[in-house]
Amino acid sequence: MKKAAALVTGASRGIGRAIAIQLAQDGFFVGVNYVRHCEAALEVVELIAAAGGQAIAAQGDVGLDEDRRQLIQRMLDVSGRLDVLVNNAGITSPGRRDLLDLTPESWDQVLGTNLKGPFFLSQCCAREMIRLVEDGVQPWGVIINISSISAYAVSRNRADYCIAKAGMQMMTRLYAERLADHNINVYELRPGVIASDMTEPVREKYDRLIEEGLTPIRRWGQPDDVALAVSAIAKRSLPFSTGECINVDGGFHIRRL
Ligand code: NAP
Repeated sequence: MKKAAALVTGASRGIGRAIAIQLAQDGFFVGVNYVRHCEAALEVVELIAAAGGQAIAAQGDVGLDEDRRQLIQRMLDVSGRLDVLVNNAGITSPGRRDLLDLTPESWDQVLGTNLKGPFFLSQCCAREMIRLVEDGVQPWGVIINISSISAYAVSRNRADYCIAKAGMQMMTRLYAERLADHNINVYELRPGVIASDMTEPVREKYDRLIEEGLTPIRRWGQPDDVALAVSAIAKRSLPFSTGECINVDGGFHIRRL
């Protein structure tokens, strides 16, 4: 039997990079998707190869229909399987404008990348997973959606981002219900404040908030914190759970008095 395969979107940097490296360590053949930073993606592939794993870099904008199709096809051509899809690629709200100044252009860009992209990539992937499971090529499939605490926590300067992440929750439940009969489980993973290029511009603000007790676990989250949670799900450690949301946020979601 061929090696199990995982496609990780936005795996050239940050959280996706850590997920790709972890899944390769777990024995998956990994598709390292990126949109602009080819060198960074190739570095991830090299790191994986140096550690004895297998990976390819796969360029593609998750916001574009043709790119989504090509990404899935490339994985099938190279590995013959598609056991795991991690919808990780995402952007923050450009310019972080107050919601009274939010533009339709920003909305389209953020929703296109962070919600429409994962939705239709999952659709394309699910069709192939169903076929691969039915043909006995692979035993099951897993789709993991990286959302955010912004799915429920209001940031008035990132309304489009918050709305896209909130939509991911319903998207997760829809696919979970639709695909359960096909032995494909679907999960939402909600990171909190994680150190990456995305949060670098607001590092000082979060340093202060964390110091003041923003999260019960009083530290920045690291990409590896998210990667370890993805790893557990990808290994089918939660076989009787689907549509589930897993918080990786240092306890941020706990309401306190
Ligand atoms: P990051 O450091 O900014 O990295 C973003 C990654 O996504 C890069 O690999 C980038 O590729 C890729 N990407 C961006 N647009 C893309 C597109 N249209 N098509 C394909 N790939 C694209 O971000 P991060 O902090 O690791 O965030 C990863 C995910 O976690 C996002 O969905 C984000 O919303 C979510 N998240 C982050 C945090 C946090 O605190 N950092 C918290 C909660 C949730 P290139 O290198 O080619 O540009």
